[in-house]
Amino acid sequence: MTQQKTTAPFWRQAPTQHDSLEDRVRRDLLKRLLGTAVLATLTPELLASPAMADAAAKALMGPAVPDVKPVKLSDKVYYIPAHDKFPSPQNLGFFTNIMFVVTSKGVVAMDPSASVQIGRMAIRMIKSVTDKPIIAVINTHYHGDHWMGNQAFIEENPNIPMYSMKETAESIQHVLGEEWIKMLLRTTDNATEGTKITPPNTFIKDGDVLEFGDTKLKIHHYGQCHTPYDLLVEVVDDPKGIVHVGDVMMDHRLAGMGDGEGSFIHGLAVLKKVKEVMPNKFFIPGHGVPGNNLLDEEITLFETIYNTANTAQAANKSMGEATDMVKATPFMQAYSKTTPDYESSVGKWTSIAYLEAQQANF
Ligand SMILES: [Zn+2]
Repeated sequence: MTQQKTTAPFWRQAPTQHDSLEDRVRRDLLKRLLGTAVLATLTPELLASPAMADAAAKALMGPAVPDVKPVKLSDKVYYIPAHDKFPSPQNLGFFTNIMFVVTSKGVVAMDPSASVQIGRMAIRMIKSVTDKPIIAVINTHYHGDHWMGNQAFIEENPNIPMYSMKETAESIQHVLGEEWIKMLLRTTDNATEGTKITPPNTFIKDGDVLEFGDTKLKIHHYGQCHTPYDLLVEVVDDPKGIVHVGDVMMDHRLAGMGDGEGSFIHGLAVLKKVKEVMPNKFFIPGHGVPGNNLLDEEITLFETIYNTANTAQAANKSMGEATDMVKATPFMQAYSKTTPDYESSVGKWTSIAYLEAQQANF
């Protein structure tokens, strides 16, 4: 299955002689958009006209996302803080932080969040702090809240390189892209309408260093953690030591990990490797507040859940008992108070850890 559509959308296609399915679909769409009275005056030729197509396309676009002032974190690095940690009709899908680096050559944006509208807002905000052109986008992984804003950057510059691991782009093109588009429409009450699958187009891997004028961005990938293809992006020689970590670290948020995407065993190895390679950095997560303490917190979170689930599994306790044991740990009791959706997520996280422990103990 491919999301790369080669044919024009149905409202741009040439009219046919008879009342085809396309005509009926087009008329039904316009009826919903414009109302029946207006539609009665439209001829088939007008229905297929470019002006009408533009009107239809516009009406199918979710509302603009209001400005969110960028926060300056160091000499060249800013981030646009998301409203919440999960999508909702109120936040219009803006639940993922956007970071950007103003290099001497131009601006590099990272993870432009979950819709074309949010991407456009990010571009407005970038232009509010610099006149430099926007020259690149980096996507840390394949979850839609980290690449669905790419579309706005392509609108701005059709030749812009958008970097990720090759597998990330492939995952977006095969099934995951469409799932994420639908998921955001559902969770925002269609606020993200108009957002299309726009996968990264330039591929990077662990150890690569991207050079943009005076700035080097070092790419780190240490295996499966939140997804199999997570990237961390280090701003080399940044005075504050800034590293964009995607969702490898999250600030008081339990999400992802399901369907074989994430792994506690591999994730802990990744986090410990990051600690070895970049022990004293300032981490910008996709969700929540940036800081120095995120790595140690995430390691403790992963260890607490995995070790407790492992103990429970080895003692032949049930999954439910394992969840109760995880919830009873002092770390998780404190974590629960500051973590939205804790109650609905902790059981799922425990069960993933429990199943991994079961396999490891077999
Ligand atoms: Zn995310």
